[in-house]
Amino acid sequence: TGPYLIAGNWKMNGLNSSLAVLEETARSCEHLNEEVDVVVFPPATLLAVSSILLKDTRVQLGGQDCSSEVSGAFTGEISASMLKDAGAKFVILGHSERRQRHAESDDLVRRKAIQAVQEGLKAVICIGEIAQEKADGKTLAAVSDQILYSVPRTSAVDQIVIAYEPKWAIGTGVTPTLDEIAVVHKHIRVELLAHWGESGRGIRILYGGSVKPSNATEILAISEVGGLLVGGASLDAKQFSAICEHG
Ligand code: 13P
Repeated sequence: TGPYLIAGNWKMNGLNSSLAVLEETARSCEHLNEEVDVVVFPPATLLAVSSILLKDTRVQLGGQDCSSEVSGAFTGEISASMLKDAGAKFVILGHSERRQRHAESDDLVRRKAIQAVQEGLKAVICIGEIAQEKADGKTLAAVSDQILYSVPRTSAVDQIVIAYEPKWAIGTGVTPTLDEIAVVHKHIRVELLAHWGESGRGIRILYGGSVKPSNATEILAISEVGGLLVGGASLDAKQFSAICEHG
């Protein structure tokens, strides 16, 4: 079910000395199937220099978060227009690490996404259950709630990407079974169709959580999986480009 989007979230990793990884990633991705979109999300401090390095390559850039405000007295925040100005085309919003560690609510994530879309960025909105919700059999309900409250009802469906990342699968080496991923992705599609009508079919749904070269092919083959959001493995150019090869 291509065309796929393969995204690499560097999280709080990456110094100027890491730019060689980006260059190697760009080189290894040069010959990829045209249909595959590759996006790397380095820390904000590296965006501007990365955008110069990646000019005329297959690798696009994104920020890892943005403010819900346009500009002004918000010390430490980065606006969507700043990300765009630094060369980003995408932004990750509502990652579980921000929802948990920074207590980001669904409503805040939704307002951030509105700003991102207004600036012309593609918003990769993360959803997914925590371990307790899974244990309680509430995975689908949790995901439905997050779609309802954290995804803005914009008509610009090509600027919305959903990333399903079960919290317990992030950085743990543990993934859901292929059947479990299939059930959740199908459920997400049904919700998108319910809220957007037929145009909801155009919204890509990524899977994230312990993606490696060894499981990328089987996960991408699942119906309604439109790509991958890769954490740890995206810090290694060889592993990340090997994952992109599967796209
Ligand atoms: P890992 O691939 O390290 O499990 O991280 C997934 C993730 O959180 C990507 O946003």
